[in-house]
Amino acid sequence: MNILLDYEKNELYSMLESLGEPKYRVDQLVDAMYGGKDFDDKLNLPSSFLEKLSEFNYIMQPIKIRKAIESKGKDKTIKFLYDLPDGNIIEGVLMRYAFGNTLCVSTQVGCKMNCAFCASGLNGFVRNLSVGEILGQIVAVNRHLGGTKKDRQITNIVLMGSGEPLDNFDNVKKFLKILTSDECFNMSVRNISVSTCGIPSKIEELADLGYAVTLCLSLHAPNDIIRQEIMPIARRYSIREVIDALKYYYTMTNRRIIIEYTLIEGKNNSFKCAKELSEVLRDLPCHVNLIKLNEVDGRDLKAPTVDNCKKFLDTLNRFGVSATMRRTLGDDIEGACGQLRNKELQGEKVINKVNPNIKPKPNKNTQRKVKDASQLLKTKQNLQKNEKKINKNNTRKSSPKTKNNRGR
Ligand code: SAH
Repeated sequence: MNILLDYEKNELYSMLESLGEPKYRVDQLVDAMYGGKDFDDKLNLPSSFLEKLSEFNYIMQPIKIRKAIESKGKDKTIKFLYDLPDGNIIEGVLMRYAFGNTLCVSTQVGCKMNCAFCASGLNGFVRNLSVGEILGQIVAVNRHLGGTKKDRQITNIVLMGSGEPLDNFDNVKKFLKILTSDECFNMSVRNISVSTCGIPSKIEELADLGYAVTLCLSLHAPNDIIRQEIMPIARRYSIREVIDALKYYYTMTNRRIIIEYTLIEGKNNSFKCAKELSEVLRDLPCHVNLIKLNEVDGRDLKAPTVDNCKKFLDTLNRFGVSATMRRTLGDDIEGACGQLRNKELQGEKVINKVNPNIKPKPNKNTQRKVKDASQLLKTKQNLQKNEKKINKNNTRKSSPKTKNNRGR
């Protein structure tokens, strides 16, 4: 199975060449792909070309919206469950603000990090999402909202759904490259946030890439002892190492860091913790986003009262820390990472795992087979050569230093 959304424009050119198609087809193809169209739609592409794509197992939209659940509250948050081509399920949230619509995007099926408060790791790690599966979430929701490639209905992206973006770094880097490119959504890096549990070497690599996205660190504790109790990754990297990497990120990108701090009753919400946090963050240009824990079934942690959260916030402010309480959106629809997927999996009594044998359904516009067997073999060989070239290029390009395109 080949996901068209996995490819950059120049890779699509080579693919078209291998299929014996003219180069200009690429513009029609990307308009359809990024507009959320699929083979079943009326497309501005010849059926002979669509037949070839089908013959070689290309799929256009890897993300299908399985459920869209709108919050009953005024905020009109929508939680999405998506089906992936191999039968796995992931989720996302659309949050509506005065400035526009923000989509929270997942980067992995499940998560390896197993943070004590989070539902994403409860069923373990399944696999990384491909570039097209990450991008496809935006494409699918944009279309769901009536948007097109040019008239985008999603203004902001936060890589804050299930999974750890820096643990699927190669795909995330290519995703950022495509998302910010002219031929795709031309999204400004100012409107993209990447949230991480804190992997210092990857933070530094992201800084060197020059994309200057807003970097959010899930800190959740003022010292290594508490952090190790709630975040296993803290046993690998100390807060000091992570903060040093964040300082490097700030130096390279000039972007203030966002510190995420989920308040958990009796764990990290005391006066002493607020004071210690203010000391830890002293020379880091940052803003703290406090989040009241969204209690998760199967995780034995309690949320503090609203009053207690406010007290913590006041203490931080008094110690000179720029901080706000994050508006809780979509509590009634299992808004926190991984919660909705887990519920769906329990309902189905299955834990989906990768099944490489599941093939995408043939699309109804492309039932006719390509007849000439020798032609078919030749094209197949060309495509394989092409794939090898692309893979080789991607490995080589994995850490380009493009510092001067910062702040786009
Ligand atoms: N792995 C990345 C991104 C996924 S988690 C990271 O660690 O940042 C994104 C954010 O969701 C985390 O900062 C965490 O604060 C928040 N989160 C996850 N589960 C939560 C819950 N049950 N209640 C409140 N916030 C939660």
